[in-house]
Amino acid sequence: MTTDASETEVVGVGDARMVRTFRVGADGRLFPVNTATAWTTGWNNATCGRGRSHTPPDPDCRCGFYVYADPAYALAQAPARHVMAVVAVHGAMEAGTRGARVNEAKVEAVWLGPRISDDLAAAVQAQYPAVLVYRDRAAMFADLPLTRLPGFKSPRLGEAARRSLRVYLLVFLAVTAVVGALPMHTTTAAPARVALWVAVLAGSAALTLGGVIIRSSMVTFVGITAVAWMVTAESLNNVGAAVYRCLVLLVAAWVGLMWWRAATPGRVIRDARMDSAVRRWRAHLLGPR
Ligand SMILES: [Zn+2]
Repeated sequence: MTTDASETEVVGVGDARMVRTFRVGADGRLFPVNTATAWTTGWNNATCGRGRSHTPPDPDCRCGFYVYADPAYALAQAPARHVMAVVAVHGAMEAGTRGARVNEAKVEAVWLGPRISDDLAAAVQAQYPAVLVYRDRAAMFADLPLTRLPGFKSPRLGEAARRSLRVYLLVFLAVTAVVGALPMHTTTAAPARVALWVAVLAGSAALTLGGVIIRSSMVTFVGITAVAWMVTAESLNNVGAAVYRCLVLLVAAWVGLMWWRAATPGRVIRDARMDSAVRRWRAHLLGPR
């Protein structure tokens, strides 16, 4: 997730209760979305993911544990629809409008949605005996209310709005898939069809922009893919156009698969090979900082 330097400040040492999501491993351990290092029961200390020697959160780096002020912000990450955790944070904190980067954090409670089996929920409880495991999300947030820091802003889109947005997105994507797949000579045959084509293209561009505004990488990606699907240069011959179309579909399918994998509870979680390779190169080229 992004934090803009202009919107953040290190607010120093403090205690707060915030929210974040985790991937649930096959053994019940809780993993951050982007790393294969499970949190332990009790306090966890963040280390720099880029292998530098500073202590997170460092203003010049993006390392540290990310925690959010509102569950709606955590929903930008794939597993958040099934797993939401209330975490206590302590110590140095870089706070933004949507949440904070912190060094020290502890899971206090975790809500596990219906996609997590009772067996897997029991495994989570066994891994984290001190953590309260909830099946009722509202009950968790009622028992453990989140801290409101002065800099936090309420989400522009609440959770219900995000749910409706998802439905609209799917409908829009279905329309885009059909309209964009029509050959140009049929599209230009009638003014109404041209208008529809322009409207769908404009909608795709608006979606991309909207994704940037609400800072959702998924919405932005869907918008860019829709634009790419709609815009096929007329100069492309049939083979070129087919290859282009296949590439757009492949990229979309790959990102969709990654999203689906991240959201699927109970998988064995390993370090992504690409990530560890990048980390090794970086450490090799830059040395520890
Ligand atoms: Zn760092």
